[in-house]
Amino acid sequence: MSKESKKILLSGVKPTGRVHIGNYFGAMKQFVDLQDKYECYIFIADYHAMTTVQNRAELMQGIIDVALDYLAIGLDPKKVILFKQSDVPQVTELTWMFNCITTMPYLMRAHAYKDAEAKNKEINVGLFDYPMLMASDILMQDADLVPVGQDQKQHVEYARDTAQKFNRIYGETFKMPEHFILPQVEVVPGIDGRKMSKSYDNVIPLFATDEEIKKAVMKIPTDSKGVDEPKNPDESIIFSIHKLLLIGEEAKALENKYKKGGMGYKEAKELLIKDLIAFIKPMREKREMLAQDMDSVLDILKEGGKRASMKAEKKMKEVREKVGVEIY
Ligand code: AMP
Repeated sequence: MSKESKKILLSGVKPTGRVHIGNYFGAMKQFVDLQDKYECYIFIADYHAMTTVQNRAELMQGIIDVALDYLAIGLDPKKVILFKQSDVPQVTELTWMFNCITTMPYLMRAHAYKDAEAKNKEINVGLFDYPMLMASDILMQDADLVPVGQDQKQHVEYARDTAQKFNRIYGETFKMPEHFILPQVEVVPGIDGRKMSKSYDNVIPLFATDEEIKKAVMKIPTDSKGVDEPKNPDESIIFSIHKLLLIGEEAKALENKYKKGGMGYKEAKELLIKDLIAFIKPMREKREMLAQDMDSVLDILKEGGKRASMKAEKKMKEVREKVGVEIY
């Protein structure tokens, strides 16, 4: 298939603390698996992060971290356009235009906003408007496919609604994106059984040290079943995390080990630790290597930013003309 005929994939990760295996299995792994099949735009969502990170050093470090994460998991900058969102400032311009065709009650239905409100959080305008910034990221690059975890599904729907509304008012301009969510990993559980999330402090970092892996796994709560008793793998947090690392027969074999009895939770945890280390260690070492040459990493981002912003500028020219501000 020629490059021109490839469909477009776009997704991003916020630079707000260390990425975890929930981010990886829920979304980032799909970026890597699909990088040959799609024309990929993968970005570091630094403007999105500003809704919560308001510290210069922290934001800068976060951006660098996600750049390293992307490369360490195997995204190939020769195939994928890797960029930071703020290198495409046109998205904020488009966000404004979307804001002007969007109502407040519609944005008030967003889960992220409702959650924040239910928790009595102080909600800044940026957080409230988050779905429109994300719609701009997606629609700006004419994305066909947006791989995300379940928590972002509604945001892709907001992007679709916004594309439809804009097209209805100003004429056909934006493509309809689809979310891409793998059902078996749509919500990766954390070590406490709730959704794995930076804000719940229940994560296994994707680039955790061996010590951190051990500590996190040892914290996983279990019931009081003895070693010999059969255990239900579907009710075990240990198994629900472990099965992410196993495929086909391996997963089946471990499932049977739980069901048969004879394996205590201590052994189950030790097996999980062993497999997590085997999975994480090579990526962590690759990341450490990449960090030795930050100039190259920054060059990749700069180059990606130029390409993404060139495409965005072309799109914005069309949009400015359609809305009526382009008069020269
Ligand atoms: P964020 O860091 O919030 O930008 O998240 C990056 C990606 O990871 C998004 O597509 C999220 O939907 C996805 N994600 C985050 N947490 C989980 C989870 N526990 N299970 C599955 N996907 C997740």
